[in-house]
Amino acid sequence: MGDMKMNTVGRPSAPDFDVEATSFQTLLGGRGLLQSEKLIFEWDDYHRTGVDFADIAIDTSDIDGLVRGDDLNLPGLTEPECVRHYVRLSQKNHAIDLALYPLGSCTMKHNPRLNEKMARLPGLGDIHPLQPVSTVQGALALMDSLAHWLKTLTGMPAVALSPKAGAHGELCGLLAIKAAHEAKGEGHRRTVLVPTSAHGTNPATAAFVGYTVKEVAQTADGRVDVADLASKLGPDVAAIMVTNPNTCGLFERDIIEIARVTHEAGAYFYCDGANFNAIVGRVRPGDLGVDAMHINLHKTFSTPHGGGGPGAGPVVLSEALAAYAPRPWVVSANDGFDLAEHGEGESAANFGRMCAFHGQMGMYIRALTYMLSHGADGLKKVAEDAVLNANYIKASLSDLMSVPFPEGPCMHEALFDDRWLEGTGVTTLDFAKAMIDEGFHPMTMYFPLVVHGAMLIEPTETESRAEMDRFVAVLRALAGAALDGDVARFKGAPYLAPAKRLDETRAARQPRLTFS
Ligand SMILES: *Cc1c(COP(=O)(O)O)cnc(C)c1O
Repeated sequence: MGDMKMNTVGRPSAPDFDVEATSFQTLLGGRGLLQSEKLIFEWDDYHRTGVDFADIAIDTSDIDGLVRGDDLNLPGLTEPECVRHYVRLSQKNHAIDLALYPLGSCTMKHNPRLNEKMARLPGLGDIHPLQPVSTVQGALALMDSLAHWLKTLTGMPAVALSPKAGAHGELCGLLAIKAAHEAKGEGHRRTVLVPTSAHGTNPATAAFVGYTVKEVAQTADGRVDVADLASKLGPDVAAIMVTNPNTCGLFERDIIEIARVTHEAGAYFYCDGANFNAIVGRVRPGDLGVDAMHINLHKTFSTPHGGGGPGAGPVVLSEALAAYAPRPWVVSANDGFDLAEHGEGESAANFGRMCAFHGQMGMYIRALTYMLSHGADGLKKVAEDAVLNANYIKASLSDLMSVPFPEGPCMHEALFDDRWLEGTGVTTLDFAKAMIDEGFHPMTMYFPLVVHGAMLIEPTETESRAEMDRFVAVLRALAGAALDGDVARFKGAPYLAPAKRLDETRAARQPRLTFS
């Protein structure tokens, strides 16, 4: 690695690409001890069952007319078939436990096993939200403790725990903002300002709540254009939604000024806190003038992501919005903790509930475990190491791959564009697919939209230098192959994955969601 980096034009030359070898077909689709696997609904044996039940006589007189006459039509698998089916599917899947997962903006960090152990403690894992509160005092104490640390880390006075993901948190924040405006007789404010680089959930959430979305321009160095923002603020604006650090991986230097002009115009400042990992323990968003911010526990606080588990997106709220937080909230009284369902005084203006119960308890446990096991100094180190790792990636690749905002260090993710691929015949998509053949999940592609052919790489702090060097070596070798005109390696990639190049547009536009 050292040699490779010393030499600025140095890029390892790739072995000759052999299309014949990549298209080798096995007899029935298996591959290297992995069998090909159908989806469970494509197993056509619907009349078998893996379980033996004695015939039982059931009195159906009560539900006369509602008795099912036809078969249930569930796939019939024996226990070993069922176990193997899901294990085979899991082996087709990528996971953070397999390799570095460089999806920018997603903070795919290691999920510590201690978190899992705590979430499985019977006193926490086996309880139900409908139990009497007197029997779940420990769980409520845990929620209260998590709320305390979220408020402490963000410097905000209130938190709504129940939103179930970042996007749900955005909805919660905007509903609180809407309720606050309405309570002040300012319900006529119908516009939300969103920068061009925003994550798609920001404008989508604003539109879902019924607001008109207006875009705010960006400066040449990848930040919010404050003059443009100020010119668009006015009596019709309810809120701005700004991500900090932003989706270009850059800290918004003018954040204090952004908050000031926003408040001066009578609007609220919603901060998309998805990138909190870059500043946790170092910067408190409350000190920057933020009114509401979601925290993706599944990003910053290491709880599992996507297929690995439900998310959780608690929203911290400023003094101005605290009274509008959704129900319920944990309160402590002389005789223990309780869940408040009805606010008094100002809190009576809360906008209702975000979900049936209290949110993702399992994620609260994991996130609090993560916080307590790191401590204040450890969480600060998380942010520092995340930023260090991203800058290591940026420095290791920027002689080959073009960087749209080269000035100064990046935060927790390194953004590249596709100018360096010009004339090679290889696109960002091709490059990402070739990474799969080399054993690495692609980075985030084509996001943010403000740079052409974006490649957004977020290594997170949990990657060792050795693992990052392996990743960098693969990217440098692939970049070399692209620049040397080895186009076939990219055009049909991935050659070695269970599913080859997919028609992703059609999959998104015409998804087949049912089996008949
Ligand atoms: C991940 C992310 C979101 C959405 O969060 P979910 O938990 O996936 O709903 C919003 N904004 C940014 C910048 C993100 O990275």
